[in-house]
Amino acid sequence: MTQLVAYQLPKLGVAGSSPVSRSHPRPSRGFLIMSEKLEERGIVIQAITPGSPAEDAGLRVGDRLLRIDGHEIEDMLDVLFHLEPDGAEFEVERNGATEVIELVTSPGEKPGMELGAMDMRACHCKCTFCFIDQLPKGLRSPLYLKDEDYRFSFLFGNYLTLVGMNSHDYQRIFDMRLSPLYVSIHVTDPVIRGRLLGIKNAPILPNLNRLIEGGIQLHGQIVLVPGENDGAVLEQTIRDLAPLYPGLASLSVVPVGLTEHRQDLPSLRLMNKTEAQETLDTVKDFQQEMLEKNGTRWIYPADELLLQAGIEMPPDEYYEEYPQIENGVGLLRWTIHQAEEAMSMLPDQLESERRILWVTGGSAYAALQSIASKFCQRVRGLYIDVISVENHLLGQSVTAAGLLGGLDVYAAVDGWLKDRAGQKPAALYLPPDCLNSDGMFLDDWMIKDIAAKTGVPSFQFDHDWKAMITGRAAA
Ligand code: SF4
Repeated sequence: MTQLVAYQLPKLGVAGSSPVSRSHPRPSRGFLIMSEKLEERGIVIQAITPGSPAEDAGLRVGDRLLRIDGHEIEDMLDVLFHLEPDGAEFEVERNGATEVIELVTSPGEKPGMELGAMDMRACHCKCTFCFIDQLPKGLRSPLYLKDEDYRFSFLFGNYLTLVGMNSHDYQRIFDMRLSPLYVSIHVTDPVIRGRLLGIKNAPILPNLNRLIEGGIQLHGQIVLVPGENDGAVLEQTIRDLAPLYPGLASLSVVPVGLTEHRQDLPSLRLMNKTEAQETLDTVKDFQQEMLEKNGTRWIYPADELLLQAGIEMPPDEYYEEYPQIENGVGLLRWTIHQAEEAMSMLPDQLESERRILWVTGGSAYAALQSIASKFCQRVRGLYIDVISVENHLLGQSVTAAGLLGGLDVYAAVDGWLKDRAGQKPAALYLPPDCLNSDGMFLDDWMIKDIAAKTGVPSFQFDHDWKAMITGRAAA
């Protein structure tokens, strides 16, 4: 399930970093995602680390792992789930023959093999608000992938509609305890939900109950489309969902995001300020109820909703455990909080003057300006300029830093440099989520292109405030 606002496209591989790590397991036990077809049986070893337990066991690149300790391997999750701290017995297919190989590991030791990963399952919906349908043509093909895959929901926090899930999928989820999962709920009325998802009828409550009764914890999101699932419909949705706590551990309310590329798509509009404020009033009422009853706010507005309503970011404690920060819920407050904590670790004065540029989108501009001016007051010799970049790639209503294209960033920085001829910044910092793991923007620009064309050393901010301020990382 592709999501709709600032911090969501990164989950499709546009960018990889996340400000917080979730508590659920990641595929990090010596495995790396490559590529594997769904219909093929087992999973192929793509690489073996020299000197690793996998090599010692006699496993080779190209071996197809069919079973682990007697359990059929459907995908990488089976290996992650069944691999014991001391290893496992694999049934392996090599050159058309099968053999059994014992992998022995010490507790905490990585097996040292890279496995073919899972092809993403495509979604069955035609959501009226799908962000992917609103992308301009000509971007690289992975950006147009529409996923609906419980495995990616478990591993990476991608949101699912649960449309098209079959009994086998549910059973795997229960057997492997794939919890928590992230669900795009939107509305509990099946007809309205069906209309939003572009299918006939889309009941959600039975599916949520089935997962919760099977012991799976869920986090839900509601993407608000004005005139469809806001107002009284939203209130009823929340009323239907509140009794599902604690199985439904949190619920986020996210305003619909629209780009300028909606040709041949249903006519939708953004929320206006009054609607955003009314929605926040509804959220606040339910938060109060849930706090009194269960000791948690449970439901949270996305940062974008607060910004649209013109309401100040709530304090750190408002977000409790930040259960949906990767969905743009509390990300700004979390950033401010991290910056304030970092202040105490900074020197009063830099050894030599340092000017840096921060690049962001319109949403975070005011918050970053405020942080920048506090840093500059705190550290003598430090100068920070914040540049708000207009998004011409997707449209001006898209103000999230994570959705900026490289060309737009370059144009804004180049304009800044020309306006301030003679002021040469020591470094330029980009938002954490606007690049993928290869340093590439949505529009295929690379971070190195920005550095080369502007002549300013350019970095993706990695939440190391001290390094950025003092220049240690930029040296
Ligand atoms: S059509 Fe709907 S479910 Fe499918 S990717 Fe788009 S928003 Fe997600």
